[in-house]
Amino acid sequence: MGKILVLSSKQLLKKKEEKSLTEAGWQVTALSRYDETRLQADCPDAGVIVLDDTLRGVDVNDTCRKLRASSKATIILLGVLPPADMWEKCKEIGFDHYFKKPMSSRELAYQIKRLMEWSGSDGDTPKPEPISASPPEAEADVEIDVVKESRQEAAPENTSGIWHEPKVANLISAFLKDKIKGLSPQIDLSLSEGFSYREAEEIMGTTPRETALILDSLAKEDLLLKQDFEKILVSPSGSVQLLPVERCPACDSSQLTRGQLIEHFACGHIGLEEEFMHGLNQICPKCRRELKLIGTDYRKPGLRYICGSCHGVFPTPAVKCRCLKTGEIYRLEELEYIPLSSYSLNESYRKRLEFELEPRKRLIEYLDRLGYDVQESVQVKGRSGATHKIDIVAGMDDLITRHTVAIGILAAPQEEGEVPIDPLFNFDSKIYDTGIDSKMVIAVPRFSREAMKFAERQGIRVYGLEDLRVLLAGKARLMEFISVKKEKREVKPDTVSDAKKPDPRRQLKRLLENRGYTVSEKVKVTGRSGAEHVLDIYAHKDDGVINHKVAACVITNEDVFSNDVNEVMQFDTAAYDTSIRDKVLLNVTGLSKEARQFAEYQRLKIISAEELADLTSRQAAGDATRDLSMLLEK
Ligand SMILES: [Zn+2]
Ligand SMILES: [Zn+2]
Repeated sequence: MGKILVLSSKQLLKKKEEKSLTEAGWQVTALSRYDETRLQADCPDAGVIVLDDTLRGVDVNDTCRKLRASSKATIILLGVLPPADMWEKCKEIGFDHYFKKPMSSRELAYQIKRLMEWSGSDGDTPKPEPISASPPEAEADVEIDVVKESRQEAAPENTSGIWHEPKVANLISAFLKDKIKGLSPQIDLSLSEGFSYREAEEIMGTTPRETALILDSLAKEDLLLKQDFEKILVSPSGSVQLLPVERCPACDSSQLTRGQLIEHFACGHIGLEEEFMHGLNQICPKCRRELKLIGTDYRKPGLRYICGSCHGVFPTPAVKCRCLKTGEIYRLEELEYIPLSSYSLNESYRKRLEFELEPRKRLIEYLDRLGYDVQESVQVKGRSGATHKIDIVAGMDDLITRHTVAIGILAAPQEEGEVPIDPLFNFDSKIYDTGIDSKMVIAVPRFSREAMKFAERQGIRVYGLEDLRVLLAGKARLMEFISVKKEKREVKPDTVSDAKKPDPRRQLKRLLENRGYTVSEKVKVTGRSGAEHVLDIYAHKDDGVINHKVAACVITNEDVFSNDVNEVMQFDTAAYDTSIRDKVLLNVTGLSKEARQFAEYQRLKIISAEELADLTSRQAAGDATRDLSMLLEK
């Protein structure tokens, strides 16, 4: 059983959250003060230790150091200082995760849960990928057993693609604008189907049959609510023009008379009332006596049918149906039913559908314009083996590497103006499981504050409807997170390299610039640790979806004594410290075996001068083709 240790003078985990952790099979111990003996008992085998800086009577950093020395647990430190300040001291203090408060009980429970699940069942605690405001992402590919999906999807997810079908989009839009409130069929037997959904047919331009199919499929997707309306009968030959007819159940004759029956007690005669009528008196046609008192002389057993052919008396005739087209007569059992339904909008989908119809379409066009290949409603198999459905997955081959972003669309529950944090937890762990590196979420219409904070911590890019509108209009101001000191060192004068010998550094720069990157050479950047690094080439491009960052190191072994392994290691450290995932080693003069091995191990992309030249000419060719096709389009 996994152990969780919470050290705080406050109750960080509320009852509900603590219960959910216990139910997941973990033992939670909360201590409000530092207690050496309790700690010695609980500490060594704890999976996760939460240390809050409110812990009284101790120096928290010092306590953290002690815990680190005696435990293999994943240590979460909670404090009020900015994460950047704390990361500098990460190694010294020995925490694994630092979160700036405030942090809700729910979120803390989520973070603990994830870490406990990662720490696996074998008791050993492999270091998980740290999560923080600026996650060091360099060694992302640790094999981890991840979160088993247990939570029910909070928001409906199967609405995608509605806008691809203009007919359906128009119909849904009419529902959303309350042009259609409820949709019931009009029964009209003169139509071959016998019914029509006139409003829907007019909006979609579809036949009654197509309309019924579309409405039914929308109800299957849960977007419309369906209610039984009426059933209509249809003959085996498909006709709805059926007339009910009455027949004698004994001889099938149609000569039936319906009337009030009278039974004369004296002689036992039973006959229709009209046979007894004699002016104002009632006389029995059999014994000719007069009937006087009802109940004493006679009784009226009720309405009955009498067959003119076989003289049978019966309470109800057999009902059959005559087809008006063919004249054929069917028994009811021979006929089929067409069940008709009325439909109304499933209000819990309203916000999401409103998003589907316009903004989603424009978001996808935007991604398309940026050069992403976009897939909608994608099923992705996670590392845990679970299959996850993702609203949008967009990928871009960017010469150096492929970038992928998972985009989730989360709608606020009905009657609520904000998307709560829970569906975001779900999205976060789902995408973590898939291994997709960039995450983006559209909140319809916006996120709660708690959810916003969480998104920021997890590096999830978040757009509310309003922000999205600004982004799509091309007016978003995008932030650059790395602080680049703009003291560009004077770039080596190019006088030596003549036109015949292209400069690889320039080529790479040009390649990236053509791809929309802003490229700086020989720049000083400040890493998470606070250290400054100089990068040969640093390129970034924030398109509002992914913040693409590329660092490149140019290896020119001009100096025979230069130690290229050292240079590569330094570069890798700098990239790690500045959270740059795409690392390029521009190998101009050849790498030593050691340097190459290290680079491959750290997933640096090695590009030789020849490959670079090839890329350059391919890009030029690509441009040429594009220019040509644009020319032809005109
Ligand atoms: Zn009689
Ligand atoms: Zn009969």
